[in-house]
Amino acid sequence: MNPLFILPLLGYNFGDVAPVMSAATIETHYTKHAQAYFDNLNRLVPGTEWDNASGKRSLEDIAREATTGPIAQNAGQAWNHVMFFEQFRPASQPNQPSDDLLALINQSFGSLEGLRAEFKQAATSLFGSGWVWLVMGASEHANTTSGDRRLFIQKCYNDDNPLRHGLQPILVADVWEHAYYLDYRNRRGDYIDNLWQAINWQVIADRL
Ligand code: MN
Repeated sequence: MNPLFILPLLGYNFGDVAPVMSAATIETHYTKHAQAYFDNLNRLVPGTEWDNASGKRSLEDIAREATTGPIAQNAGQAWNHVMFFEQFRPASQPNQPSDDLLALINQSFGSLEGLRAEFKQAATSLFGSGWVWLVMGASEHANTTSGDRRLFIQKCYNDDNPLRHGLQPILVADVWEHAYYLDYRNRRGDYIDNLWQAINWQVIADRL
């Protein structure tokens, strides 16, 4: 029987994101860590309320709606890794946000540098394992009238994600140690600083 959930193919080779993340890091992260969440989910879901054999339950549905227990944990991690791996491109081909996206970033953070600084602060102050997200949504941080939507940064612990908080995910850094330890050891901040070099801004714009 075919698995219910399949980890999407990478849009680049394992070594393409080096030196931001090495080939060894990408290969282990993708084929071992991310794949394991999919394997777990495919073992856990059949016969439960989340079984999508009828085509009604996508991975995103489960990552949003299941909030406790192993199915929620593995669905959250599986979906978060899809978002993580699809947002990169070869580090040798750097690119920039579009003018529209940059205007939104400037409105929310003052500048791209402002976004990077706030993102790094969130990543280095997240105690333990988790994810740092750039999200779109109504925010307590937004000094605008209610109903306005803008970009802001959200720290999520363990398998959590913005879907569970009614927010739209735009960009994400995996700050579980397995994402950076081979290349950066304890230097999580350096990993975050370098990550921007490999971001595919077209993918980010498409998520808005
Ligand atoms: Mn990971």
